[in-house]
Amino acid sequence: MSHHKLVIIGSGPAAHTAAIYAARAELSPVLFEGFMAGGVAAGGQLTTTTDVENFPGFPDGIMGPELCDRFRAQSKRFGTVIHTETVNAVDLSRRPFKVTADSQECTADALIIATGATAKRLDIPGAREGELWQRGISACAVCDGALPAFRNQPLVVVGGGDSAVEEATYLTKFGSKVYVVHRRDELRASKIMQERLLANPKIEMRWSSEVVEAKGAEYLESVVIRDNKTDARDDVPVAGLFFAVGHIPNTAFLNGQLDTDAQGYLVTRPDSTATNVEGVFAAGDVQDKKWRQAVTAAGTGCMSALEAEHFLASL
Ligand code: FAD
Ligand code: NDP
Repeated sequence: MSHHKLVIIGSGPAAHTAAIYAARAELSPVLFEGFMAGGVAAGGQLTTTTDVENFPGFPDGIMGPELCDRFRAQSKRFGTVIHTETVNAVDLSRRPFKVTADSQECTADALIIATGATAKRLDIPGAREGELWQRGISACAVCDGALPAFRNQPLVVVGGGDSAVEEATYLTKFGSKVYVVHRRDELRASKIMQERLLANPKIEMRWSSEVVEAKGAEYLESVVIRDNKTDARDDVPVAGLFFAVGHIPNTAFLNGQLDTDAQGYLVTRPDSTATNVEGVFAAGDVQDKKWRQAVTAAGTGCMSALEAEHFLASL
C-alpha cells in the first residue's frame, strides 16, 4: 500500500488550491478528484455552470468547466498526482490515516477534505438536465443573478430559508420583480432578513405554494405555481427560476468520524481548517454553509495546505 505525506480528497477550487500550495511546499500531494462523486463531475460544482464572472483574474468572465481545467492544470504543473477515483471510505482512528478509493488503498500522515456540497434542485418537469436547467434555471442566484437574461425581468426563488431570502433580496437589484415561492406559510429564515425581504416593494410572496413545472421553448418563459391549500395553479411568466432549497455536504464517506453541525457540514476550529481529528483539515463548501463561493473555497483551500504543512513539520 502506498504511503503519502498528504492526501487531498475533492476536486473543486478548495482541493486544487490546497494542492498548488502543498506541491509548492514539496509535500508531494496526492489528490483523489472523484469519478462523478455525488453526481458531479471531477472539477466540482463549477463544472455545472456556464459563465463565472466573479472569480478575480478573468475580467471577461470564464466558463465554469474551463476554470476547473485551469485549476487542475496548475495543480499538475507543480507535481500533484491526481487519481480520477472516488474515495469511498477513510479510517481516521489512527495515523497514518487509511484512504480507500475505487481501485486502490493508501495511507497518509495528513488529510485535506475538500469534497464540497451539492446544491439541491427540484425534480420537476421542465427543470431537469437536458430540459431548461441552466437555461434560465439556476441553484445559485449570487453566481448567475447578474446575467443579462435576468435584467428587468420577473424572477422566482423557491425556498424559505436564509439562502432563499438572501438570494431573493439580491435578485431585486436585477429583476423587475421577484416572486418567493415557499411551501409553508412562514419563513424559516432569520427574523431580520425576513423583515428586509417583506419590506422590499419588488418582492411578491407566494405562501404555501410550490413551483410544479418550468415551461419554455429554448429558455425559461414561465413557471406553474400550485397553491398547496387550494390546489389552484397559476402560470406565471418569469425569465429566471432560482432554487434555494438547501445543499447536501458530501460527507457520507467519512461515516461520522468527523464532527458535523446539524446540517451535516464539517465543523472546523474558528480561523482554522482543523477538524476534531488532529491532522485532518477541511476546506471549501464541505465546511462552509454561509459563503459558498469559488473564491472563498480557494481561500480555505490555501489555509488547509498551510495548516497541513505546519502539522507535518511538527511530527
Ligand atoms: P466543489 O466545487 O463542491 O467540488 C467538490 C468535488 O469533489 C465534488 O463535486 C466531486 O467532484 C469531488 N468529490 C466529492 N466527494 C468525493 C469523494 N468522496 N472522493 C473524491 N472526490 C470527491 N461560485 C462562484 O464563486 N461563482 C460562480 O459563478 C458560481 N457559480 C455556480 C453555479 C452553480 C450552478 C453552482 C451549483 C455553484 C456555483 N458557485 C459559484 C459556487 C461554487 O461552485 C462553489 O462554492 C465551489 O465550487 C465550492 O468549491 P469546493 O472546492 O468546496 O467544492
Ligand atoms: P435551509 O435548509 O435552511 O432552507 C431550505 C429551504 O428550502 C426551507 O425553507 C425548506 O422549506 C425549503 N425546501 C427544502 N426542500 C424543499 C422542496 N423539496 N420543495 C420546496 N421547498 C423546499 O437551507 P439554506 O440554504 O437556506 O440555509 C442553510 C444554512 O445556512 C442555514 O443554517 C442558514 O441559516 C445558513 N445561511 C445563513 C446565511 C446568513 O446568515 N446570511 C445565508 C445563507 C444560509 P421548509 O422551511 O418548509 O423546510
